[in-house]
Amino acid sequence: MTVKKLPFSKEQLEEMIQAYKSPFHIYDEAAIRQNARRLRDAFAWAPEFKEYFAVKATPNPYILKILREEGFGADCSSLAELILAEKARILEENIMFTSNDTPAEEYQKAMDLGAIINLDDITHIEYLEKHAGLPEMLSFRYNPGPLRAGGNAIIGNPEESKYGLTHEQILQALATARDKGVQRFGLHTMVVSNELDPGSFIETANMMFDLALEVYQSLGIRVELVNLGGGIGIPYRPEQEPVDIKYVGQGIKEAYEAKIVAGGLHPLKLATEFGRMITGPYGYLVGKVLHKKEIYKNYVGLDASMADLMRPGIYGAYHHITVMGKEDWPLDHVYDVTGGLCENNDKFAVDRELPRIDIGDIVVIHDTGAHGHAMGFNYNGKLRSAELLLKRNGGVQRIRRAETLEDHFATLDFLNL
Ligand SMILES: *Cc1c(COP(=O)(O)O)cnc(C)c1O
Repeated sequence: MTVKKLPFSKEQLEEMIQAYKSPFHIYDEAAIRQNARRLRDAFAWAPEFKEYFAVKATPNPYILKILREEGFGADCSSLAELILAEKARILEENIMFTSNDTPAEEYQKAMDLGAIINLDDITHIEYLEKHAGLPEMLSFRYNPGPLRAGGNAIIGNPEESKYGLTHEQILQALATARDKGVQRFGLHTMVVSNELDPGSFIETANMMFDLALEVYQSLGIRVELVNLGGGIGIPYRPEQEPVDIKYVGQGIKEAYEAKIVAGGLHPLKLATEFGRMITGPYGYLVGKVLHKKEIYKNYVGLDASMADLMRPGIYGAYHHITVMGKEDWPLDHVYDVTGGLCENNDKFAVDRELPRIDIGDIVVIHDTGAHGHAMGFNYNGKLRSAELLLKRNGGVQRIRRAETLEDHFATLDFLNL
């Protein structure tokens, strides 16, 4: 059982609400850095290791800057994400551009930045060549399809997944790219998401090392980089355990020695592109209780809504909830905790056992550091919240202001009505 601890007190939150208004997401810098170091340490054995943080998880340049200082790169999949990486001074091959269904202008930007381009389809070799020219280095995303059992609810079965090249295509694509003058190659895959089984990641590494060996044996191409993708899950529920990243690192080391070293491909660069496990547990959505209502069920309405965190609404995902100041109270009430959207799935929790909640209570929703603010939207004209950073020295910095109605209406011209 993980104790869901908070890095701030009720009094600190009251001060933040005074200064910045609720709701907001707040990220714990010290914990993010410590976690980043744990990941690096787990792969310290590798000849070269780079984590390309999946920008989509927490697309805030202040977070990217912290991660850059910890030696991370950026995994981008859109023009906006490329620009965020650039603003955070993550440049050149510290960016991996893993997009799909990609427009030409995004390839052009990735080329301008000198990013490692990771193609999602064999037809994109020509498309890239036509619109941006071919780079010196190319990577390809592998979809093992039926060759790899597994997958899970979020990412689905590989055979049903839109991403990547088939086994046959990836060999063909490497040969084609080489014939067109590409000199350096990478292989990439991403077959799990929010996965808590450490073995599945080791299995992915084994699969990719086998592929690198096959490429070497059948084409004579020595790939330079193997990117194992993201997908390590986090313990959203208190009874879940975090993935033992050291164990994962050791398991991959054994696979590396058995396959890459034995097969003559050492040294090979290893990469990952985790998002969720890097920032997820270290972000919190803070809101206040606006209303309570008692009808067929008991409801607690927050000033935050699904526009601030849509995972419970779209995936039925569990996010732990703490009512500040009532941490030790008995969980003798059952509530649906809601936001104000005109959508009945705008609920942070359904039938949750909680202490008695009163209007004005501060409610903290845990594990919102990844795919929280990032997935926000403006349905019903709800405005997206601010983001705060709890700094290492205990201070608080606002790293994104809340949207205003002016922002919301900026694309409308009321004068020509
Ligand atoms: C979303 C995504 C990631 C990050 O996944 P996490 O589950 O957050 O670790 C990495 N790579 C690609 C291509 C992705 O789409």
